[in-house]
Amino acid sequence: SRAIIPAKIKAGRVQRPESLFAIMDYTSYFSRDVKCMQYSAIRRMAGLTLQSGIISFAGGAPSAATFPVAEIKRIADSILELDGQAALQYGLTLGFSGLIEAVVDCSLKRKIPGVTSSHVAITSGSQQALDLIGRIFIDPGDVVFFELPSYVGGIAAFRNLQAKLVGVRQADGGIDLEDLISKIEECKQLGHRAKIIYVIPNFQNPTGITLSLEKRKALLELAERFHLLVVEDDPYGEVCFDAGLMDQLIPIKSMDREGHVIYLSTFSKILSPGLRTGWVVASQPIIEKIDLTKQTSDLCGSMLDQRIVAECWKRGIIQENLPSLRDFYRSKCQVMLRAMEAYMPPDICWTRPAGGLFVWVTLPDHLDSEKILGMALEQEKVAYVVGQPFHVNDKGRNTLRLAFSKESEDNIGLGIQKLARVFRNHLE
Ligand code: PMP
Repeated sequence: SRAIIPAKIKAGRVQRPESLFAIMDYTSYFSRDVKCMQYSAIRRMAGLTLQSGIISFAGGAPSAATFPVAEIKRIADSILELDGQAALQYGLTLGFSGLIEAVVDCSLKRKIPGVTSSHVAITSGSQQALDLIGRIFIDPGDVVFFELPSYVGGIAAFRNLQAKLVGVRQADGGIDLEDLISKIEECKQLGHRAKIIYVIPNFQNPTGITLSLEKRKALLELAERFHLLVVEDDPYGEVCFDAGLMDQLIPIKSMDREGHVIYLSTFSKILSPGLRTGWVVASQPIIEKIDLTKQTSDLCGSMLDQRIVAECWKRGIIQENLPSLRDFYRSKCQVMLRAMEAYMPPDICWTRPAGGLFVWVTLPDHLDSEKILGMALEQEKVAYVVGQPFHVNDKGRNTLRLAFSKESEDNIGLGIQKLARVFRNHLE
């Protein structure tokens, strides 16, 4: 305690310590798990997006212009007026019943058959779901397979628990199944315990790639054959730019007869991330374990937030906003892609997403996107996120992610011109 409160007694008088937050060496106190944790490259970059004068393609947050602020205000007022005491009280760990019903309805609309309230857990965003699922299934050394590249928050959730992270190649139609099989067999030979395949099938973060329908079926068959679980993370499926494509976006969960698939989604991209409401759809024994682990995580999510989201669903606000939300992001994406066609030098490749918030860029092998970022910021005041942290195999130094969600269309065009200039300088 002397180290924490270094009060000195002088001549019989206690001198007040300068700070109650003196620093001792905590290294031997920190857990093994926390020593494995790494700060998110995206979160670090997020600070930059707030600096004025920077055109930022870095932060992946949805555009605040899509939040139905006025409607949410009206709903919050009416909830507090009619049911304020319950809305400000603790609630059930697995979520507010009205929101669970909304998620059941939403899941049926997304063509996941047979979902009932006993198959749903509401979480504080799908990020909490990833954390809880990791805690439920992962012992140190267990193997989780990731697309190369994959979502940093998913990678971190499993890395924090000392899972062994194995990367699988990704191509146009999503994860490369041959590579997946060879990685699974390799793990078997090495005596590693392979448990989970983590996939983001729709307009993936960070690449914008969509998993083809055939691959969805084949992936499920592989999971069954090799006794693996599939964590299907679907925050972006509704942010689809092509109505004709919606039929192809069948959740893997909708074909799951044996209970291998754990489906995650969120209201973050279709309503508001600040309301922190995501969900899990899974078989009952998994939901029961989520109940257990969530109890020590937060007792329950915010009841006020959950009631607001449930009411937004009930009044059709989320559903009715979707067409304009899709138009909004489609238009931004088109501006970005057109500007890239017009200005990017040859030898640079990028994805052409049909939904979501991201375009993924691959530079020639010899270029390092982290080194180039310094110049992009200094000389052109334009930001992106470097690609390496999205790779569990430490590769991808020549890649980067561009989010088209935040900037205006004029700034997107301008920012791409600036970025193209920086790349051209490096190529020359
Ligand atoms: N999964 C993926 C693939 C994401 O991109 C995100 C957010 N960027 C999340 C999960 C977490 O979202 P939230 O916690 O806001 O639901």
